[in-house]
Amino acid sequence: MHETSVGLGSAAALLLLLLAVPATAQEPCCRSAGWEIAERYRVEGLDERRFTHEQYWRSLAPALRSDRVELTRLANRWTGRAINAVTLGSGPTTVLLWSQMHGDESAASMSLADLILWFSAAPDSDTLRATLADRLTIPMIPMLNPDGAERFVRENAVGIDINRDARRTATPEGRILRGVRDSIEADFGFNLHDQGTRTAGEDGAMVAIALLAPAADSARSWGPVRQRARKVSAVIVESLTPDLGSRMARYDDEFAPRAFGDNMQAWGTSTVLIESGIVVDDPQKQELRKLNVVALLSALHAIATGRSDATPTAAYDELPTNNPVERPPAAGGQIVLGEAAPIRADIAIRFDDPVARTGRTTERSETWQRSWPWTRSTPGAVPACRSGRRGNHPARGAGPADGAGRARGGQPGSVDCRYG
Ligand SMILES: [Zn+2]
Repeated sequence: MHETSVGLGSAAALLLLLLAVPATAQEPCCRSAGWEIAERYRVEGLDERRFTHEQYWRSLAPALRSDRVELTRLANRWTGRAINAVTLGSGPTTVLLWSQMHGDESAASMSLADLILWFSAAPDSDTLRATLADRLTIPMIPMLNPDGAERFVRENAVGIDINRDARRTATPEGRILRGVRDSIEADFGFNLHDQGTRTAGEDGAMVAIALLAPAADSARSWGPVRQRARKVSAVIVESLTPDLGSRMARYDDEFAPRAFGDNMQAWGTSTVLIESGIVVDDPQKQELRKLNVVALLSALHAIATGRSDATPTAAYDELPTNNPVERPPAAGGQIVLGEAAPIRADIAIRFDDPVARTGRTTERSETWQRSWPWTRSTPGAVPACRSGRRGNHPARGAGPADGAGRARGGQPGSVDCRYG
């Protein structure tokens, strides 16, 4: 009797102790696991963000020999590059993921490869893998647009933007995507893209990840299908906040009647758009590759366990807007002309590809107010510009930035120009 009462008292004390632990102290799945998986199961041979169809599927070949994954050839393109799906798990809830419908947006294709390798090779004791396998059926279509990927362009082989073809489905890629969705009546969808230079809010940091639970109608109404996507988006925000902080944004939710995300939502598939943007000093998007693994694992686990249904939407709703930047500026510069007095002139550098920083044109004009995460000297015909801010920035080359994705100021007299 005495022992029993002591036991009950201890249990009550333990319960009180557990209740006293703040929720934030218990990290929800799967940030830590995601980072570990992204590094341990990183598929080799995909080291740069431009890769061919042959290179991609050759790199994945060892993983595809596993009985745990199922490879389905969806179409043989006349170009010789097949569109494939890889399905993980056999549970009742269906989750469709597709990447690289725009051929030059490849970050998430690398992430899907890593997830496939993990799923095929993780030990039986991996409870995360077992949970997903038992509760979800997850067809993945990496590289939906292999012909665009081959040339690293947005459109398909005949120059059509597949993401403007959801209603007509004139393209084989669009028909395939619609067909897979319909065949499994996908409960959830993940529409995986890359974006260029954007800021979180008007004067915010460079966006690393932008999210959207697309509208299913022009009224942007929150029906149950879209609401589920909103909750999954909130799960992703929570999972990435410790690493990205203010470098996340919410994409404009104006209804896009030709786009797949919006139509998927209307067709009954709760769809989340993930846009991989820019991380400083990550031109090949290898950090974004890992961040996508973390985001997708967190979302899949939350769907599998039902946690997403109980997640408040505030984390997603309160994201700043995902603002496009037409002319990434280098503010506070000076044009230096030999011994003449320097002329204050901010220098804008526009890139065809802002991540690779290629195809640039320059423009000299009045001040912009923002600062940007990269620093670079401007040799040759473009006059050097000097930072107007004090700091400890190195004198040349692509330099580091602080955690908010903002540039540090240059040394007076250096030849740095900030741009994005
Ligand atoms: Zn895209």
